[in-house]
Parts: sequence; structure tokens; C-alpha cells
Amino acid sequence: MVDLETQYGKIKTEIDTAIAAVIQSMVFIKGPEVARLEKQLAEYLQVKHVIACANGTDALQIAMMALDLKPGDEVITACFTYAATAEVIALLKLKPVLVDVDPDTFNLDIEAVKKAITSKTKAIVPVHLFGQCADMEPLLALAARHQLHIIEDAAQAIGAEYVFGDGSIKKAGTMGNIGTLSFFPSKNLGCFGDGGAILVNDDALAAKIRRIANHGQSSLYQHDEVGVNSRLDAIQAAILLVKLPHLNTYNQARQKAADYYDAQFKNHPNIKIPMRAAHRSHTFHQYTLQLKGIDRDALKAYLKQLEIPNTVYYPMPLNTQKAYLQEGDFTVTQKLCDTVLSLPMHSELEMEQLEYITQHILKFLKDQTLIPSI
Ligand SMILES: *Cc1c(COP(=O)(O)O)cnc(C)c1O
Repeated sequence: MVDLETQYGKIKTEIDTAIAAVIQSMVFIKGPEVARLEKQLAEYLQVKHVIACANGTDALQIAMMALDLKPGDEVITACFTYAATAEVIALLKLKPVLVDVDPDTFNLDIEAVKKAITSKTKAIVPVHLFGQCADMEPLLALAARHQLHIIEDAAQAIGAEYVFGDGSIKKAGTMGNIGTLSFFPSKNLGCFGDGGAILVNDDALAAKIRRIANHGQSSLYQHDEVGVNSRLDAIQAAILLVKLPHLNTYNQARQKAADYYDAQFKNHPNIKIPMRAAHRSHTFHQYTLQLKGIDRDALKAYLKQLEIPNTVYYPMPLNTQKAYLQEGDFTVTQKLCDTVLSLPMHSELEMEQLEYITQHILKFLKDQTLIPSI
């Protein structure tokens, strides 16, 4: 699904030099690279504070710990997402309240969020799925009306932009109270291991988050609250410092590949291409089709035999996972889990590869008896 090797090949000298410099310094924990990365990310994202941590799941957990929520408090999030989002809510003895998503953007359905708000609701976690922001303006208004925190899970959407009604533009993860990022290798900005970051504009909240990520220490050996140990190591920070200046180019390459996919599939009656919502950019962490009247398993088998990577993100609604069972109306999520298919998407896709992928998919569809449309 991704080609990290080719991407590395193009910046190998810089990366190897950066890693060697950290080894030479022997400062593997904290160190100047981490501080520099936090500063450069803050500049890129136009957010006041960036606190690096060990991974995107930790980022979510620390963000939630910083909000002083009480056991049993309800946190609303999407039913159609990676498990990490709901996992940290449950881990902190809060109650994940899953809601259905929008069938066009795969993001939180604002009406479903409205219906899920109770007197116990304390926070909403929009997941900017597949690289496109959830509809933040109405969501922020809703949260303000009910005095709810917003934690944006921007693990898949670094660099994605959202345009507000007044024309102002903000990047994913910088619109709510707290935002979180993951630098997992396959993410749009990936390191060579695990990494994550927390984004916040509020000074006091930022200080608290920094304490929580560092064993709850306010100063050395002074523990005023219970924290965790969650650090980005200097080698990962050094790698990310090399890659960050390329992020816009990487995202543009993904958009170009998506343009090509779109052009090939947009007129096919049995395929729904991913929607690009107005006033939002799409950074295409994933390029995800919805198949209509197509035997997905047969298509997957056909692609496998041609060695064309493909994945179903996500095969099961979170509310049907044993750890997160929940009753409710998840019609859209269920339908998406049954019909989505993600195609190879990364910064290094060549025209030849795109042609190979799309021509084979179109050929498969031509050879099949398709149910006209559902
Ligand atoms: C990748 C991801 C995470 C978790 O990030 P890790 O760095 O793997 O812990 C959380 N939420 C979403 C939506 C993700 O895609």
C-alpha cells in the first residue's frame, strides 16, 4: 500500500547523516532534535504548542488525561475508525459513545453527534479519516453550545486544511482544544519506528500535557499528578526533521495519484470515488472506493493474483467489536465496512503503476456480471 523504500532512497544521504549525528551526540532521549521538531511542526501547523510523544495512541490518551474527565463521562467518537480512538477512551474508564458517519466523507455525522449528546457527554473526538477533516465548523459550534471538549484525531490528516465560513484556514489538529498526530511509518509524515505528537494552543493545557507525558513531573522528581512515560526519541525526531520540509510535496503527490484514480473511476456506475468536500483539502492518507454491486472478495482475489495491494479499512464497525459492543443505528458504517476498498496510495506512485492498477480493476469489472446499482 505504501512505498517507503523509494521515498527513503530520494533522501537517503540526509536521513543517514541526521541519524549518524544523533548517534555521535549520544543524546537519544529528549535532545535538541525533539525540541527542534516540536518548533518546526508548530510553525508548519500554525499551532502554539507541539508536544512530541511515543505514538499516536499515547497522544490521544495523554490528551484525554489532561482534560480531567471522570470515570463514566461520555466521549463521542466515530464508529468507522481505527480502534485506537475508542481504545484510549475505554482504557481511561470513560465511556466511548460511537456514532455513525457521513456516507460521502467517512467522517462524523454531525446530526448523529447531536443525538448522542447527554448530560454525561464531556468530549467529542472527530477522526479526520483518510486525510480529510471532519466538518469542524458546525462541530465546534455544537461543542461550544454544550461546553464539550474537542480532541481531533488527526493521525491520518497531517497538513489537511479546513476553510471556515469567514475565510480563515486551519490545519487538521489545530481547531479543537487538543489535536493528536501519529508518525507511524505509513502515515503521511512517518518516522522509522513509532512516534506521535499532541497539538494545543492553550498555554496551561500545554504545560499539563507536557507533565503528563513525562511521568506527571512538574520538575525533576516532583510528581504532582499521575502521568505516563511517552517520549519521541531523538533518532525519530531527526528523521522527521528531514522529512517535514517534504510533507507538502508528499501530500501533493498523493493528491495527483488520487486525481488519476478519480478520472479513471468517476464515470463507472458501480464505483463511488472518495468525495472531496467543499472548503476542505484532502491529503489522501488512503484512497478509498465504495463498490456498488461488485463482489469485493472476488476483486480482492483478482488483485492479489496480480500483486496489486489493496486493503479494507475497516472491515468491522467498532460497535460490533467485542471490546466496544454498542447498540444503535450504524447503518452507514456497516455499509461502508461491506463496500469500501482502499487502493495503493503514497508519495511515490508512478504513472505506470497507476495505469496498471486502474486498467486491471476496470478490466475485472468489465468481465463481471455486475448488479447495475444498489
Ligand atoms: C494510526 C492511527 C492512530 C494510532 O497511531 P499509532 O501511532 O499507531 O499509535 C490513531 N488513530 C488513527 C485514526 C490512526 O490512523
